[in-house]
Amino acid sequence: MYNAIFTSKTTRSRNSRFLTALALLICLSIFSGLASAGEGELSIHYFALQRLNGEQAEFAYAGDSILISTPGGKHLLVDAGRPEVGPQVLTRLHELGVDHLDYVFATHPHVDHIGGFRTILQEISIGQFYQIALVYDSSHYRAVQSILKERNIPNATIEEGDILEVEPGVLLEFFNPPAGTNLSSNEGLSTGGVNDLSLVFRLTYEDFSALITGDIYRAREEYLVEKYGERLQSRMYDAPHHGQDTSSSNAFIRTVRPEVSVFSIELLGSVSTFLSLRDLGSKVYVTGLNGDVVIRTDGQEISVKVDKEIDSPFLR
Ligand SMILES: [Zn+2]
Repeated sequence: MYNAIFTSKTTRSRNSRFLTALALLICLSIFSGLASAGEGELSIHYFALQRLNGEQAEFAYAGDSILISTPGGKHLLVDAGRPEVGPQVLTRLHELGVDHLDYVFATHPHVDHIGGFRTILQEISIGQFYQIALVYDSSHYRAVQSILKERNIPNATIEEGDILEVEPGVLLEFFNPPAGTNLSSNEGLSTGGVNDLSLVFRLTYEDFSALITGDIYRAREEYLVEKYGERLQSRMYDAPHHGQDTSSSNAFIRTVRPEVSVFSIELLGSVSTFLSLRDLGSKVYVTGLNGDVVIRTDGQEISVKVDKEIDSPFLR
């Protein structure tokens, strides 16, 4: 396991945090001893999903699945990968001791994002399922909708302008799909058109922020930069569309200005996107190279744990 630590950007807030931390430390040492590790932490866990042997030619990606765990013990799952890797997501959740998901989000109905829900929704109790208002023509989409109904899982749509307070201090602010999106069919929509409807939200916890982006393309990024500008700035960046160069335009990554970026993809995604982010000062992690990527924060500092370090001559 490798760890990297990122401290916050501003000296002023660092100083005040230092004083707060010092005061807290004195109180703790006098009154109660040190808090146990992990308490008060928020984590974002990217599962490195693996295609199964012999299936490489059949599909491009194993897909995305991200577990967000809050300081108050709530668990949120964003996407669940392809149907074939649903059991891998389930195993990870069991290993992490997660037997209930408070919130589940389907960023958009493509199979590399919702397929694994066919396993997860059957096996784990769900507080609330959110998806975008797009009825999608696929057997996987229909299967997920049937399971939601059969198991009486609370199910709602979500869009730009919605704000979800997961618990006091942990907020999700939604920027996409556009307010009023309500499509009874994907007829006439290209693959990119569906990707551009992906859920995009910004999570905040004290001084920490993360932008989760689904599979949006550059056109949607430009729209978001124009509309939201600095409100997109986030310390952690989920590189859209598995870190590929359909996305992560210069305007977008310069607006987000992340310290930490993650590509959720088996191999690399785009080398030029990787290098652009690194040139901006972001550390970049790739599930296909690093294995599982876990970002932890106490609301101030960020630490990142990976299974292995990247060792590629192209990325030095
Ligand atoms: Zn995808």
